[in-house]
Amino acid sequence: MSPEVNPFESLQEQIDDASDYLEYSTDVLERLKHPERVLEANLSVEMDDGSVEVFRAYRSQFNGDRGPYKGGIRYHPQVTRDEVKALSGWMVYKCAAVNIPYGGGKGGIEIDPRQYSAGEIERITRSFAKELRPIIGEDQDIPAPDVNTGQREMNWIKDTYETLENTTEPGVITGKAPESGGSAGRVEATGRSVMLTAREAFDYLGKDMADATVAVQGYGNAGSVAAKLIEDLGANIVAVSDSSGAVYNPDGLDARDAKAFKSETGSLAGYEGATEELTNEELLTMDVDLLVPAALENAINGDLAQDVQADIVVEAANGPLTPNADDVLTERDVAVFPDILANAGGVTVSYFEWVQNRQRFYWSEERVNNELETIITNAFDDLVETYEETGAPNFRTAMYVVAIQRVVAAAEEGGIWP
Ligand code: NAD
Repeated sequence: MSPEVNPFESLQEQIDDASDYLEYSTDVLERLKHPERVLEANLSVEMDDGSVEVFRAYRSQFNGDRGPYKGGIRYHPQVTRDEVKALSGWMVYKCAAVNIPYGGGKGGIEIDPRQYSAGEIERITRSFAKELRPIIGEDQDIPAPDVNTGQREMNWIKDTYETLENTTEPGVITGKAPESGGSAGRVEATGRSVMLTAREAFDYLGKDMADATVAVQGYGNAGSVAAKLIEDLGANIVAVSDSSGAVYNPDGLDARDAKAFKSETGSLAGYEGATEELTNEELLTMDVDLLVPAALENAINGDLAQDVQADIVVEAANGPLTPNADDVLTERDVAVFPDILANAGGVTVSYFEWVQNRQRFYWSEERVNNELETIITNAFDDLVETYEETGAPNFRTAMYVVAIQRVVAAAEEGGIWP
């Protein structure tokens, strides 16, 4: 990773790149590059031993022109105000790219959750939910899971909100367990959109998915589901990694078995289905047909991008390429399909969850998956149409052009509040 690259600056650079293909004045663009507001909270929480610890927490509401703010909550030691701002901006353009009626938001707590008991995480989460309560709601801002948060945390946030508001409002948060109003298909949704994007990309570029070789960096929710669904299309997952390092088998790993091993032991290290262990850098520069970065932002910087040998990159993580890496890969004709399309399955099925919560009417997993496929393939079609029409240098810039046009159209229709 390249901590020296500020993800918020990366976001702004991506917007600048797209603005070359759009005729908007600087004041319009300025508004697209900054959040509307950021909440910063200090959570004082009692630990199991009776001591009190203070945790820095953020919620950024980037843009609400197309609907309520929407975006996950991350628990990670590297969470910063700028990271949360960047992630909230990417949510704006992601929701617009796949044309679902949301703005963008994101939240996070600077914490290494592995150092805390379940009881402590619950108290930290409820304390954050109390701070969020005045600014969230099913028509205001709808959080969801992100790195190191899941159904458990979402259920606690929903419960805290509903208790304080004396209401039942499951649509205040998505990514909940099914018993608490979660949607079928939500857990696998991000990996599924990565698979759908990869499938469409191979098809568009005239490449065959059967027997294609694939490397996946990061084997959590997004990466492991993407791997197994891509494997189901006939591709060979030859390498996968987590923070402990990478495992490799030139004949293909069994994606489900590798996941079961990681769930059982806590990491991929020592996985017996592999013939070799590699570093993460070796995985990222392997000679494969498809590379799926599915860990965190800035995984590939400009230097590393010089050595990337994959033909196609489909971004499961948010912001895994620095702007320099993007330039290098564009120059080297590596086709990069951007995060704001490829990992949009998570927020799309969150949208379905919210629709179901509001209607109190729940869909089958088959319906969820079919509706998701329609949304992602339509967005892919919008992307290639704009890519071909504008002559944008890469797919990311073309996707931003699509998304920015939608946000600006909504903003202009709303006008300016005096
Ligand atoms: P997760 O916590 O389930 O998994 C993250 C994985 O990355 C873990 O396996 C971890 O070991 C690995 N990892 C961390 N640092 C690494 C490194 N330096 N090298 C290799 N592996 C490393 O998180 P997730 O939900 O799968 O999210 C991953 C990415 O996908 C994030 O960028 C997130 O914002 C993005 N994303 C997730 C969703 C979702 O619905 N889960 C939706 C959209 C985007």
